Order: sequence, then structure tokens, then C-alpha cells
Amino acid sequence: MERKKIIIIGSGPAGFTAAIYASRANLAPLMYEGFFSGPSGGQLMTTTDVENFPGFPDGITGPALMDAMKAQAKRFGTEILTEDVKSVDLSQRPFKVVGNSTTSSADSIIIATGATAKRIDIPGTLDGELWQKGVTACAVCDGAMPIFRDKELYVIGGGDTAVEEAIFLTKYGSKVYIVHRRDELRASKIMAKHAMEHPKIEILWDTVLTEVKGTDVVESVTLQNVKTKSQETREAAGVFFAIGHLPNTGFLEGQLSTDEHGYLSVKPGSTLTNVDGVFAAGDVQDKVYRQAISAAGSGCMAALDAERWLSANGMS
Ligand code: NAP
Repeated sequence: MERKKIIIIGSGPAGFTAAIYASRANLAPLMYEGFFSGPSGGQLMTTTDVENFPGFPDGITGPALMDAMKAQAKRFGTEILTEDVKSVDLSQRPFKVVGNSTTSSADSIIIATGATAKRIDIPGTLDGELWQKGVTACAVCDGAMPIFRDKELYVIGGGDTAVEEAIFLTKYGSKVYIVHRRDELRASKIMAKHAMEHPKIEILWDTVLTEVKGTDVVESVTLQNVKTKSQETREAAGVFFAIGHLPNTGFLEGQLSTDEHGYLSVKPGSTLTNVDGVFAAGDVQDKVYRQAISAAGSGCMAALDAERWLSANGMS
């Protein structure tokens, strides 16, 4: 079993940026890019145009951006394994990383496995139906698309994300409805106040989405009041799930500290986890910003933190 200086787990903007920095620092990183867990490239592989990643004035598609990051990481010698990590053992040194078909060891590990936006599997919203054709889980990524301009948009959820996304979408839609299953928002009081006072936002209380319809893109939503059970179908151009994310940490089996939502805890202003030599970058440790550019930034931090840690411990 070859002993690596750095193993990077995850292949989104955080993982590839960490790989670019670590490989340019001659640390010969090994990356597990995933396979069954999702496409190499992470969440951007399921978005269309990315217009807010600096350096691309005309925008770039999510897959093209990730292909470019991967090519850049490979150019400097990052070795990439197309498999999922099943488990890690952080109690022994070097650390042990068990993949679907290989086992590796490393002096340091960067965890950049991201988070998965939660969706509700109702008719019309699934992959191959209207998912990414008006149904999305990221208003900041997709909200500016022409299909949403001056149309009625529906945000599902009642937390801070739902309110934040609804406010963001008022820039584009003619009206934004927040569909919440209860009669009180979970969002912080100040955010809830902003939503309730916003002239373009209306909250549909005690309401759930039961179906989305459309030929090529979203054309209507069916909603049900959970108290009266009455249903109605309304014209709609967009459905934005904002019901939370799940950080992808299952393979860690509780070996690293997390916050109450399951996101990896890092020392503020750094990527250091509670285990020396293990670093976390990107959405797996960020429930607030969740942007490709912030993930890439923390991937850079993780590589620099790992490089310094290896050097301080005589392992570089
Ligand atoms: P969240 O606080 O967990 O809220 C999720 C919302 O989705 C809840 O209102 C929940 O309803 C609803 N929901 C969950 N599953 C559902 C389902 N199957 N059907 C219908 N509705 C469902 O998630 P979040 O809003 O993404 O926030 C996560 C964390 O990040 C929070 O700590 C939040 O404060 C933080 N955050 C902060 C900011 C900020 O400070 N600017 C921005 C975004 C997020 P119930 O209320 O009925 O459970």
C-alpha cells in the first residue's frame, strides 16, 4: 500500500483547488473523485450556466468549469481514482483510506465531499422529468436564467435558506411564493420579517407541493393545504427546493466533530478539523455560503494548511 503525503476525498471546486495547490507544491496528491456517489465535479455538474464564477465574463457551463479544474489538477500531477471512499481510519497513522477497490494510506487528508441538497421526490421533479428544467435546489446558481424572468416562482421550505432564496429571486420573478408546511417560519426572526414585509413575496402557510407539470420546462405547480386538504393548481415557472442540505460525511462514521446539522467543524479561519492532519474544505464544512467560489477558496486554504502541517511535522 503506497503511502501518500495527501489524499483528497471529493472532486468539486474545493477538492480540485486543493489538488491544484497541493500538486504545485510537489506533494503528489491522490484524489478519490467518487463514482456511485455522484459525478466527478460535484454539484456543478448538474447546473447549466455559471455566471458568477470570476474570470468568465460570458459565463461557463458547470461541467465545462469542472472539466477545466480537473485538467488543471492533472497537469500538475494529481493522481485521480474514480471510486468512492467507503471508510477511513483516522485512529492510525498514516491514515487509512478504503475505497471501492483500493486501499491507500496518507499522512494528511483533505475532506471535500460536499453536501447534497435535499429534494422532495414528487411527480414532475425527478431527474429526467423537470429537474433542472425549472426545478432546482439553488436560486443563487440558477435564478438568473431567462425562463424565470418576470414569472411566478415557488420556493419550498421555511428556513433561512428559503427566505434568502426568495428575496434573491424577487430580482427576477414577478412574484415569489414561499411554500411552507407549517404556520410559522423556522427562519430567524429578522429574516422572517424581511420575507413577510417584502412586496413581491407571499407566504403560503400550511401548504405542501404535490406535483409539478410542464412539457419542456415548469408550467404549473399543484399545492395542497395540509389542514383543509384542498388542492389547487397554479401557473408557475420555477420551483426552488430550500429544505436543507445533507453534508456528505457518512463514510467518516463519526470520527470527526460536526455541528448540530452534521457539517464538519473546523477551527475558525482555517480548515483544521479536530484530528491533527485532517482538513475540511467546501460545502461539507460550510452551511452558509455554499458557492463554487467559496468552496474553491477553502480548498486552497486546506492545501496550504496541509502543506504547513506536513512541513511542521517533518513529512513534506
Ligand atoms: P433548515 O433550517 O433545516 O430549514 C429547512 C426548512 O425546510 C424548514 O422550514 C423545514 O420545515 C422545511 N422542510 C424540510 N423538509 C421538508 C419537506 N420534506 N417538505 C417540506 N418542507 C420541508 O435548512 P436551511 O434553511 O437550509 O438552513 C440550514 C442552516 O443554515 C440553518 O442553521 C440556517 O440558520 C443556516 N443558514 C443561515 C443563513 C444566513 O445566516 N444568512 C442562510 C442560510 C442558511 P419545518 O420548519 O417544518 O421543519
